[in-house]
Amino acid sequence: MEKELRRLLNKCVRCGTCRSECPILAELGFEGASPRGLIFLLQGLANGQADRKKMADRVYNCLLCDACTAVCPSGVEITNLIRAGRKEVGRIPAFGPLLKLALNMFLTRPPLVAAGSRLLWAYQRLGLDRALRNTGILKILPGDVGRAEHMLPPLSIRTARGMLPELTPAVGKRRYRVGYFLGCATNLLYPQVAHDVVQVLAANGCEVVVPKGMRCCGIPHLTYGLMDTYAELLRSNLQVFQEAKVDAIISDCASCTATLSHMGERPLGCDADLPWDEAAQMAGKVWDFSAFLVDELGLRRIKRDLAGKVTYHDPCHLVRGVQVTRQPRHLLGELGLELVEMPNASVCCGAAGTFALAHYDLSMAILQKKIDGVGRTGAPLVATSCPACIMQLTAGVKTFGVPAKVIHPAQLAAQAH
Ligand code: SF4
Ligand code: SF4
Repeated sequence: MEKELRRLLNKCVRCGTCRSECPILAELGFEGASPRGLIFLLQGLANGQADRKKMADRVYNCLLCDACTAVCPSGVEITNLIRAGRKEVGRIPAFGPLLKLALNMFLTRPPLVAAGSRLLWAYQRLGLDRALRNTGILKILPGDVGRAEHMLPPLSIRTARGMLPELTPAVGKRRYRVGYFLGCATNLLYPQVAHDVVQVLAANGCEVVVPKGMRCCGIPHLTYGLMDTYAELLRSNLQVFQEAKVDAIISDCASCTATLSHMGERPLGCDADLPWDEAAQMAGKVWDFSAFLVDELGLRRIKRDLAGKVTYHDPCHLVRGVQVTRQPRHLLGELGLELVEMPNASVCCGAAGTFALAHYDLSMAILQKKIDGVGRTGAPLVATSCPACIMQLTAGVKTFGVPAKVIHPAQLAAQAH
């Protein structure tokens, strides 16, 4: 592994092209915060010359937004290398073993996730969130969790998993049997999005399976270098969707879509013995919701009955992970909405999964630039195809006073049925 890591790191010719695209470097302004600087540090790590504690802080100071990888003329897979570097470093700054435990023991078990969600619902419902915020006691939480807590949207008592039937029949003649990959964020935070995805797919001739045994796609584990847990989840989801015998797997979450679309590629640092060929076959069935609706289903049952302006934010994992940009925009136009492009629509909004929980100020600085762009469009709607981006942008429009509602394209499509 170290030999392979060194070989891939040595592809970097230090040209600096990646520096122009990095949102973190744009905020912090020093070479060590740039993708090229990170590659240099990782070379030190691979050669046994780096201080692992200092390294941990640096390798986690990255959004894994892939903007650098997308422009590197030498084909350096920078985000893949940073993830492998996180595994090598072995510790997570600010959270340490607590976060590892939560990711390995909690997020991998849907019943525990549902129980945790109910606790958070009660916390909000009883007004403890406001009360604790006012006392300032949330400051004792690790990292920046206490400062980022306000970003959590109002939760429902039931998760989407608890609401959706395992099988939803197609309306009219069945054209496809599809599996709906219900990601953790949509499941917990935006059950209405999940409901709308299933309804729109069914209305367009899909029989929709929501397999009970489905688990997290594994992106949080990849992000924190927990490759063994990622491999365990991949194996489990592969079996679940093979047994479901579906024509396609649809996801409304950019991060799940990208992770599943690349499930046939062994990530750097993952030594697990998995059926990679079977995983690659399954990966070929994965679709983003809007892409499937536009390119495969052909928008047959959608009416053009919405009106007004909308702007679209490209989630990193959709634009660079699977190169989906055209279809969500096309869908919005077909719904009757007028698309007004924001500046830098494909630049990261600063969400990056859990980035704000450890880098709140940096995340908000990046978000402010994004929200300035949203404000300049004058659009009252911001559509985006990722629940983490929806949460981040919703917090952004509220914090920076832009009168816009953030919404998933599936919700707009559901309104037009
Ligand atoms: S663009 Fe690629 S080759 Fe150039 S410095 Fe960045 S990582 Fe290295
Ligand atoms: S992945 Fe994004 S944040 Fe990380 S180094 Fe590359 S451009 Fe910067």
